[in-house]
Amino acid sequence: MSIKGVVYKGAHEVAVEDVDEPEIQEPTDAILDISTTAICGSDLHMYEGRTAAEPGIVFGHENMGVIEAVGDGVTDLEVGDRVVVPFNVACGHCKNCEEGKTGFCTNVNPEGSVPAGGAYGYVGMGPFQGGQAEKLRIPFADFNALKLPGEPGDEYEASFALLADIFPTGWHGTRLADLRPGESVAVFGAGPVGQMAAYSASIQGASKIYVVDRVESRLDLAAEHAGAIPINFEEGDPVEQIADDFGAEVDKGVDAVGYQALDPETDVGSDAYDPARENPATVLNDLIRVVKPKGQLGIVGLYVPSDPGAPDEMAAQGRLGIDFGTLFEKGQQLGTGQCDVKKYNRYLRDLIAEDVADPSFVVTHEAGLDEAPELYERFDDREEDVLKILLRP
Ligand code: NAD
Ligand code: ZN
Repeated sequence: MSIKGVVYKGAHEVAVEDVDEPEIQEPTDAILDISTTAICGSDLHMYEGRTAAEPGIVFGHENMGVIEAVGDGVTDLEVGDRVVVPFNVACGHCKNCEEGKTGFCTNVNPEGSVPAGGAYGYVGMGPFQGGQAEKLRIPFADFNALKLPGEPGDEYEASFALLADIFPTGWHGTRLADLRPGESVAVFGAGPVGQMAAYSASIQGASKIYVVDRVESRLDLAAEHAGAIPINFEEGDPVEQIADDFGAEVDKGVDAVGYQALDPETDVGSDAYDPARENPATVLNDLIRVVKPKGQLGIVGLYVPSDPGAPDEMAAQGRLGIDFGTLFEKGQQLGTGQCDVKKYNRYLRDLIAEDVADPSFVVTHEAGLDEAPELYERFDDREEDVLKILLRP
């Protein structure tokens, strides 16, 4: 039996094709009938051919829907339950899972290229078929699925869908930076993750939030919803712009850009997404400069140990020219890695359900699976009006 899914065909190409229908393989599995699945900036690294992803992967790690079947060992979930699934696949009982570090489960992906952690539809993150498809197999379903109130398609559908990844990930960025009420923070990147980091900072009581990007509509959105001060890095050194406005270094910083960062010092007139304009260390070095001595940096933007399209040989091996001496002199701390979605998603669900938070302001497109190829292309171009795309299979 087959279902429709979004399949990676090669650099800059995806297609909607027939793929294997997921089945219960272990007694602890459940099958999800997908109601909403999202396209993520992380998918773009694969889409652009900037990872080791081989054609044939079904994309999709941001998934929600209704439980359609459960294995004999599933005790908490029932057919018909509405759930959202963290992008991480985790066992729930290894040392890291027990410590809440579910992004680094040591059981689910022993053969993957990453040292720990699993995810749906992602290169190196295990054999888990992605959810940009009609159905998804959820391993260790009792542990991984989070139940949701309400009905599929209700007014919370979009907000709840963001619990699979970007709302928790943005929140994680502020937690890795140990942001405290009253502190100032600079968020680099105003894509979906940067928006969520700025929004989380505002919920957590930051006194001043700067958001850095080059896409005006993204900067405007962060200003509107997170009260952030927009900084366009194409108008001058972002660190100097923040220092001029704030009059000091900020307390904390978040990297929501990752290794495909554009170097603000390159020609702003040229194609923004020409890899020649990239400098994978630029955001890290800007954060080291802009954050105060003893401040903290939360690095949720993605970095990789091998990059086939890197601007130079060092970067191709994940080796970056980081100003470590300055970091040391400033006594800064930094936290990195995949978000442990389970650590936050229950609490963020309740903020949404109680109408305290509404992250759905980032959603710009909701479409059927068939429109995925076109929407991938437009999201990849960082078109002004394309920020977060939800697919309804
Ligand atoms: P995105 O590509 O939509 O957003 C990145 C933004 O950074 C873009 O708007 C771009 O214009 C901006 N940018 C580029 N160079 C910059 C610079 N020098 N300074 C400031 N801004 C710059 O992607 P997204 O969906 O928002 O994801 C952001 C990053 O987070 C990606 O690397 C993604 O892989 C990663 N991610 C990590 C996790 C995790 O668990 N750690 C989860 C989800 C996404
Ligand atoms: Zn994602």
